[in-house]
Amino acid sequence: FKLMKLAGAYWRGDSNNPMLQRIYGTAFWKKKDLDAHLAMLEEAKKRDHRKLGRELDLFGSMEEAGPGLSYWFPRGDILREQIVNYWKDLHRSRGYRTVTTPHISRAALWETSGHMEFYKDNMYIFEQDDRPYVVKPMNCPGHILIYKRKSRGYRSLPVRYAELGTVYRAELKGTLHGLMRVRGFTQDDAHIFCTPGQLEGEVGDCIQLVKDLLGTFGFADFKVELSVRDPENKGKYAGTDEEWEMAEASLVKAIEKHELPYTREEGEAVFYGPKIDVKLVDAIGRTWQTSTIQFDFNLPRRFGVTYTDADGQDKYVYMVHRAIMGSLERFIGILTENFAGDFPLWLAPEQARVLSVSRDQHDYAGDVTRRLCAAGLRVEADTRDDKVGFKIREAEIMHVPWMLVVGGREAENGTVSVRGRHGVDKGSMSVEDAARMLLDTVEART
Ligand SMILES: [Zn+2]
Repeated sequence: FKLMKLAGAYWRGDSNNPMLQRIYGTAFWKKKDLDAHLAMLEEAKKRDHRKLGRELDLFGSMEEAGPGLSYWFPRGDILREQIVNYWKDLHRSRGYRTVTTPHISRAALWETSGHMEFYKDNMYIFEQDDRPYVVKPMNCPGHILIYKRKSRGYRSLPVRYAELGTVYRAELKGTLHGLMRVRGFTQDDAHIFCTPGQLEGEVGDCIQLVKDLLGTFGFADFKVELSVRDPENKGKYAGTDEEWEMAEASLVKAIEKHELPYTREEGEAVFYGPKIDVKLVDAIGRTWQTSTIQFDFNLPRRFGVTYTDADGQDKYVYMVHRAIMGSLERFIGILTENFAGDFPLWLAPEQARVLSVSRDQHDYAGDVTRRLCAAGLRVEADTRDDKVGFKIREAEIMHVPWMLVVGGREAENGTVSVRGRHGVDKGSMSVEDAARMLLDTVEART
């Protein structure tokens, strides 16, 4: 075992009571497991996204603006944009339509949804036109309004709306942490409105999307949890017995079809429906909850969300909430720690830096940079009058994936000397070959 740290704590958590010493420790059955855990903690500290976010000039919070609000600097915004573009393309290719909904709306909308009753303490509420308004804590009611703008027949289902919707929640100050827990964040949200018969297929497609999207970022190891009702306490849930059984069976079938091992968590479902949670395992073995696929028997009833079935009857639609990255902010925090700042080329804010060896190659370095940028790469030139070794170190500190060094010989031959991060040497090649190599890597997203 190892003792980790000391802290003061009031007896029974009451500040009127005497202060005690709290000693934190950790214990394992085997010494080698303890050592592995301590090495992981050491590695995690080096990878802390708050530290890397500042060092790589990507993102951070601002003292003057208040805690739990993330600011995206120019380099971080490029990274964020790459993920957004990929996310949108992927969703459109899988039959989703993207929508955009406002950040504020009348509180009445949140009375219908039940949030004013059960979630009020977490919402930012203000006055407008002498009425209470709410800053949205979630995107669901907005998507429901868009669905309800016209009547729907069973043949027009499923309807899938996706939005990178920024929401605000009044989290307690003490719980905020970098990008991992914030007060304003962008959910990669989507809602699927379908018939009972379409459910299993839709959930299966969601799982495939989780595997494909997270797989693109290099994650292949997942932990899946199925949260179901508490069998002893069925009364506290929305929806009928039959609906719960049918929803649960669809979730199980969809998981099994994908041959994913999963655990069944009795009583862990939210009151409005069963759900699947997916946790990814990162490069140093930590698990992060990212994706969720949740059923909802509650909101369709509250908002009267229906479709006309083949028998001419209006029926409540089956509604699924799902997010894959969870929140864009938190996901980028996870990526930053997972890659330890060494983002794959397609995500890297600056993909290559051209470094001149001496003043004589400044023009050539500028020319190479312009050609690579014209080819669609994000490239900057470092033509300062410093030693090339110093420039290489600076590019390494910023985790720039490729350094293209140009000296007298390269300028004469029209080539570049290609160096990768951490001392990889690719030798010299023509500017066209270097561009092709980088573009191929970007396209493969590896
Ligand atoms: Zn939702």
